[in-house]
Formats: sequence, C-alpha cells, structure tokens
Amino acid sequence: MADTQQTSPASQSASLRTSDDRRIKSIAIVGGGTAGWLAAAMLARALPGTGTVITVIESPDIGTVGVGEATIPPILDVLRFLSIDEGDFIRHTQATYKLGIKFSDWKQLGHTYWHPFGTFGAPIIRRPFYHCWHKARAAGLVPHFNDYSVCAALGDAGKFRFPDGNPDSPAAGLRYALHFDATLVAKYLRSYCERLGVTRIERTVKGAIRRPDGFLDELQFADGSTLRADLYIDCSGFRGVLIEQILGTGYLDWSAMLPCDRAVAFPTASASARPPYTHSRARSAGWHWRIPLQHRTGNGYVYSSAYCSDDEAREDLIRSLGEKPLADPRYLRFVTGRRKLFWNRNCVALGLASGFLEPLESTSIHLVTSGLYHLLEHFPDKDFDPTNIDSYNDELIFENERVRDFIVLHYCLTQRDDTPLWRYCQSMAIPDSLRQRIELFRRTGRIRWRAGELFTDLSWFYIFEGLGVRPDRYDPLLDVVTVGKLSELLASMANSTAAVATAAPTHDSYFTARTASGKRAATAL
Ligand code: FAD
Repeated sequence: MADTQQTSPASQSASLRTSDDRRIKSIAIVGGGTAGWLAAAMLARALPGTGTVITVIESPDIGTVGVGEATIPPILDVLRFLSIDEGDFIRHTQATYKLGIKFSDWKQLGHTYWHPFGTFGAPIIRRPFYHCWHKARAAGLVPHFNDYSVCAALGDAGKFRFPDGNPDSPAAGLRYALHFDATLVAKYLRSYCERLGVTRIERTVKGAIRRPDGFLDELQFADGSTLRADLYIDCSGFRGVLIEQILGTGYLDWSAMLPCDRAVAFPTASASARPPYTHSRARSAGWHWRIPLQHRTGNGYVYSSAYCSDDEAREDLIRSLGEKPLADPRYLRFVTGRRKLFWNRNCVALGLASGFLEPLESTSIHLVTSGLYHLLEHFPDKDFDPTNIDSYNDELIFENERVRDFIVLHYCLTQRDDTPLWRYCQSMAIPDSLRQRIELFRRTGRIRWRAGELFTDLSWFYIFEGLGVRPDRYDPLLDVVTVGKLSELLASMANSTAAVATAAPTHDSYFTARTASGKRAATAL
C-alpha cells in the first residue's frame, strides 16, 4: 500500500515540536483553601522539571471555609504521592488517627452503629464475609459486629494500632485516616508548595477576559493587575468565581434529597481521652459532628434551615456538648449539589467551587484529590480536546453521584419519625440508582460495586446493617458450609479480633507520650 502519510524522522520531530509548543506552560489556581493548596501541591509534584509555572491566587479579603477536619484512608496515599512524611504531617497539623465513624441516634434514638474502615471478618469459600453474616443470622446465630471489625473493636476501646504486616492477622486489614486542623493543613501545604517553586500572590479576582471561543484568557484583579494562564483551576470555594460567575456552568441542586443546608461549628477543649473516630449524632433537624484533634475538639451541627433556626442550632450544640466553646461559632450556608460540568473549557473546578456534599462521610477533601488524580490522567494540552474533557466529566459525575447516593442512604433508611426532618427523609424521592441498590440488598443481601465508586460493597453493607435492613435471603453458595462449621469459624475470628484489641495501646498514648517527652512517640510517629 502506498504510504503517503508516512512521516520522515524530520517531520516526526517537527510534529513533536508542535505538540511541545501546545504544552500547558502555566496554571493559575484561584483560591488558597484546602482545595487550592492540595491542587498546587499535587500538580507541582506531578509536573517537576516541565517548566510549568503554577500560581496560587489567594484573596486578602475573602477567608477560607476553615472546616474540613475528617478524612478517609486514601488521604495517606496522597501524602505518599507528595512524599510527605506521615509523622511530620501529623505533628504539624495536630492530627489524630481515625478508624471510622460512629453513628448515634440515626436508626432510632438510643441506637449506635459503626462505619469502620478496613475489613470485616474473612471470606469463607471466597464469599465476602457479610454473606456469611447473613447466613449466621438466618441460622439463629447472634454474631456481635465488633468481633469481626478490628477498627470498630479498637475504636470502642479507645485504642489504636497500625496495620499488621502479617497477612494472617486480623489487623492486616486495618485501615485508618486522619483528623486534622484544616488551617494548619493549608499552612503546611503552602510551605510545601513554595519549596517546589509554586508562586503565591494575594489578589482578589474581579473578572476575566474571555476569548471569542469562550475560553478564559486573562484574570483581572481588583487592584487592576492581570494574570494570563493556559489552564485555570477554580478553588475559590462556594462562590465558584471562574466556573460559575464567569463561565456560567450551572448547578444541579440536590437539596430535595439532602435537606441540610446550614452548619454551625466551634471548637472545644481537647478531650481527656481522644477517641480514634469521628462521632456523628443525629439530632432533631440534622446531626452533630465531633472530631478529636490533639490540641482541641472540632464540633459542628449540620442542619436544615427549614426545621431549625441558626440560634436554635447553636444552642442545641452547646447544650448537648455541655462544654465551653473556645471560639465564636462559625455559621456556614450551602446548597448541596454539583456543577453541571466539573471541567468547562480551560477551567477545572475543585473543592467547594465544584459542588458540595455534606460532610457526613468526610468525602469533600477526598473528592478534591480524586479530581486531581483524574486531571493528571486527563492532563490536557492547549488544544483542550473536548473528548478528553468529556471523559473527565463523565468519571467525576459518576463518582460524585455514587457518593451522593451513599450519603442519602444514611437519611432515607432512618426509622426515626420523631421530628419533621426525619419524617421527610423517610418519604422523600431518592435517585433510581439508589433505589435499585437498596432493593437488591433487601432481596438478596448483594451489593453491586462498580469501578470508579468510592465506597465499596463493604461500606454499603455497614450502613444497611447499621440502619437495620435485613435481606430476605443469604447467598445460596454458602449452603455448602454447615452451621456448625460456620459457628466454629466465627468463634475463631472473634477470638483473634479480641486478641488484637486487647494488645493494642490506647489511642491517646500516641499523643500523650509525645507531649510528655516533647519528642515523637516512638510507636506512632
Ligand atoms: P475555601 O476554604 O472556601 O477556600 C476558598 C479560597 O478561595 C480562599 O482562599 C479565598 O480567599 C479564595 N477566593 C474566593 N474568592 C476569591 C476571589 N474572588 N479572588 C481570589 N481568591 C478568592 N471536608 C472533608 O473532607 N471532611 C470534613 O470533615 C469536612 N467538614 C466540613 C464541614 C462543613 C460544615 C463544610 C461546609 C465543609 C466541610 N468539608 C469537609 C469540606 C471542606 O471544608 C472543603 O472541601 C475544603 O475546605 C476545601 O475548601 P475550598 O478550598 O474549596 O474552599
């Protein structure tokens, strides 16, 4: 075949040079909150030696949200990605360890359940353990949840340990995350970024010039100066200065299925024994969070303004804590939902600028880093190929909507009917994707996990189980395991879990040892 299109080495290098010229050489990140500094850090780390100029623009007049203190285990991968030493990070951000979330009063008043990290029991005949759990129940056995979750057992005992390198130990499947001081994290990441050559400027964006094709061409600041970049990252918080105010991307409002739209937050003194978990307590118009840090405790009430005023929310939080606030309460307003597009033209929105899901499962910071990993997978050139942008948006929309479903699950399965909010939650319309998942679980005990979803089948199981959903049947493949054998295996797993919990040190010992000696606690940090 005549190969008229074959390129000579010379023309190949010419086309390479062309593509080189199309490389992104400058990135402007608007916002210096957690999202902005995480974006700067991950991009600076991923683009070393490319000569790409990264500039973070922080407004001297507009503050950060300053909350966002609970994370999920992938945060540790982010630290590894950034080559940040975990112990150093923990010391500088007053962090504590987190083994999961304990939910009180969500199913019914007085009831508590766990969404722990890590594994639950061990598979039997390669079936996930939660199927064995369903069979045990059907056989009249009464297994105790904490006997199969090392994280829940440690959490209830106020203890902590690191995962075991021995794959046969129940502590091999232990996973943990961190609680940290969001302001200290932004400060830490800022100095990390500055060491990597990121430029920081203090300016307030007041507008932007757009090219004829609608792309952002140049930022205009309140002081009259301007900045031009190839790629713009909008981390400007709820305002969405670029993605919404300038590009008018549009917002999908999910508040009909997630009716909380306000929060009040304040710190109290550090607890005498800091628990290794986030505590979420359902209240009449929403829920309280309690997050233990080394130097203080973070508290907040996420509530629906349809059922509770700001003053009532603040009083409810103060009364229920019975502790003195260490600072004035902060009030936050939000509309749960997402931008119609996370990436529009040459602008990618991250953090609160991209949308908001209430912090019930500590997902916001994770979604920032997930957005950044996806951005690196789809890193553009100046052509901004629309198929590349579509692919990014598809992946992020899928991930965000499945996280939304997971959070809605906590509300819609409540058995509480004591206040208007909880009655509303029992009857509100929910997405088909969630309805189908609940139906499948109710009928079969199965949970279908799809690639790209943050929460695994196990996380879904924890919430179904915690909220009292009992499937109609168990996995028939488990019929080959006799009840006697199952009971024996359950007893052996329970013994190993108890042994791990008994041997572990208290969570607080990791921090008191350091405070007492002024040095790192050798075991932890
Ligand atoms: P912000 O912190 O609002 O920062 C915005 C930045 O943009 C600021 O630096 C500001 O100066 C700048 N800016 C704004 N406008 C302009 C302008 N015109 N020009 C220049 N700069 C501008 N997430 C979790 O993962 N875990 C949690 O436990 C958690 N709890 C939360 C509790 C509540 C009540 C809320 C509301 C959120 C919570 N989040 C949590 C979410 C988390 O706080 C955010 O995802 C995170 O802080 C990122 O915020 P951000 O950087 O996007 O925005």
